Order: sequence, then structure tokens, then C-alpha cells
Amino acid sequence: MKISRIKTTPLLVPYKKPYIWAQGVVHGAGVLLVEVHTDDGIVGIGECVATPSAVAIQSYLKLAEGICVGRDPFEDTRLMGECYHTLFQVFGTISAPRFSGQVFAGLEMALWDVMGKATGRAVHELLGGAVRDEIAYFGFPQGETAEEIASEAREMADAGHDVIYVKVGRGDALDLDIVKQVRASIGPEKRLRMDSNEHWSPVRAARMIRKMAEFDIDMVEQPTNAESVSALAQVRANSPVAIAADQLVFTPYDAYNVCREKAADLIVVGLHESGGIARFRKIAHIAEAAGIDICLHGLYETGITTAASNQMAATLSNLDDGNQFMNHLLQWDIVKKPDLALRDGRLAVLPGPGLGLELDTDAVARAAEVHIKDSENTGCS
Ligand SMILES: [Mg+2]
Repeated sequence: MKISRIKTTPLLVPYKKPYIWAQGVVHGAGVLLVEVHTDDGIVGIGECVATPSAVAIQSYLKLAEGICVGRDPFEDTRLMGECYHTLFQVFGTISAPRFSGQVFAGLEMALWDVMGKATGRAVHELLGGAVRDEIAYFGFPQGETAEEIASEAREMADAGHDVIYVKVGRGDALDLDIVKQVRASIGPEKRLRMDSNEHWSPVRAARMIRKMAEFDIDMVEQPTNAESVSALAQVRANSPVAIAADQLVFTPYDAYNVCREKAADLIVVGLHESGGIARFRKIAHIAEAAGIDICLHGLYETGITTAASNQMAATLSNLDDGNQFMNHLLQWDIVKKPDLALRDGRLAVLPGPGLGLELDTDAVARAAEVHIKDSENTGCS
């Protein structure tokens, strides 16, 4: 079996309501659908996060196609290594392991989908088998005001989520109001986590965490600048609340540095940072050796990433129970089957084969049209 073609299609699936975080506002999931075709008729599905420019990611994957066509998809690890070397290392000045994760994630997950479909096995079976039956996700309420967020948080707590996660870093007074109102709305039993997305200095983080601690915070995610392991370690050393590294960790080397410096109690990472399933598992294993857990990160993605993450997470012994779920933000998903809606904040491990999903071709066409219209309006394709 040989790879015969890699087809890519830019899509934009609008969100139900604006996604507000410390760095700005996002209105939809801009992704690049990746379809890896083989000479015996298998089509593997994946997706890349394609913001801010789908054309840019598409151009890189066109170069990767030149390396992959004619090769066996079971050469996944070697192919990804060759693609990284050719696209990012040969020219020296553009060595970019973090950006390469965004470029290669969709291709790598599509290769796993091909391997699963070719063998009639779920990806988690190819990875050694599931060590759990379901993945647990946090409730992720959205809103402009503390009242809106607290109201949605209550609905999510009632729907069965054990962990509620909110974005802060939007201004100290508003942050405190959000945490206070969300805690009041979800009651004392649910675990409450917050993410200030690098928006605080160590001093400000110490002050905010001290003030928020009275609302029984379970964890604070990436409070400080993502370039600095030492800043996070400094916050953690004096924090009464557990600290997570998110934007600090893209590669296995990042994970090693965070573990070595004891900078975090938890590592949050996603397929679009690691560059796919194989490298994500390396990160998880490094964290496991340090005795800490891994939490699935979410980006502006569709059910394709949910399915791929589900397959991989099924195999991780050190998976956290408050993982990030993004599908509820979408006006519609491009996955037809299976139903990816959560039950009691959980999703069963998908049976496969491959990633275990079937695309909704009408929904894909609609999202492709939205991307084209948005490109015409914004000039950003
Ligand atoms: Mg985060």
C-alpha cells in the first residue's frame, strides 16, 4: 500500500458565541481538512488548525505531499522525521519545532487513520490498547460577563462535569468576579480550574492566586509567559494551588525541561502542539516518568481532533480527568458518526476502525463555503 495523494481543504466552522480568552476573541474553528489517499482506495482523515492562514498551512502540506507520495503509510515515524527535516531543518534559519506541530498534526493523524482502516483496528489498538473505557472532560463555560459564565457553568455542572474550567486574565476585578460567581453557581463539590493564558507576571500571579484561593481552586493553568520555565517554577514554588504548564510544552524537550525544573503539577498539551499522536505519547511518557499527569489541550478544532485525541488518550495511564473539549462551541460539527456529544462529561473510547469517525460531507461543504466567504471579507485566506 502506497500513499497516492494528500488532499487539503480549508474549512471554517463558526462558533455559537464568541470565544473569549486573555489574548483575544475567536469566532470559529478555522481548520484544514487533510485526506491521505492510498493506491488501494483507503482515505485517512485528519485536520490541522489553520489560523491565521489556511493557505500557509496548505503550502507546507503540499511540500510534505511530495515526500509522502509513493511511500508506505506505516512508515509514519520516518515520514514525519523526513518531513520535519526537509521543511524546517534543511534551511537552518527556519527551524521551528513548535510551528511544525501545527503543520504536521493533521497529516500524522490521517496516517494513523489509514493504518487503522487498513488493519481493521482502532488507532488505540495499534498503540497497544486502551487502559480506560472513557475520557472525562471539563465543563468549559463561555460568556462575556461573569453572570453569563456562571450561568453556563451551572448547566455544565448539572450535566455531570466534575471539573469546571474558566478563562481569566481579563482584568483583575473581572477575574475575581468570574471565579466568585462560578464557584457560587456550581456549589462546593465541583472542582474549579482557571487559565490566565500567560497574562500574569509572577508577582501578579501570586497575588491573584492568593485572592482566588478562598474559592477552592483546583488548578491554575499557564499563568505566566510561555517562554519561561523559570517563571512558572517560581509561581509554583509559592503557590497554594496546583499549577499547570500549557503553552510551555509543545515538544518532548519542553516536557523534559518542565519536569526537570519541577515547574508544574500537570502538563496540558494537544495534538496540534505536539505535531500528532506519536510525539504526544513521548511527552506523556516523560511526564509519567516525572510522576505527573497529562491533560488534553483543545484548540480551534472539530470532531476530527476530538476523535484522534480520544484514540490516543485511551492508551495513556497518566491521563488527567479534566480534559479540554471544544465541540460544544461549534455551530455544527463536520463529523457525522459517531455522536461525540458528552454524557456526564464523558466520551467512551471510540471503537474505530482508524480514528473511528465518518465525515458529514454536507457539513464539510458548508464549512468550506464559510471559509471562502470569510476569506473574501477579511482578505485572510
Ligand atoms: Mg490553556
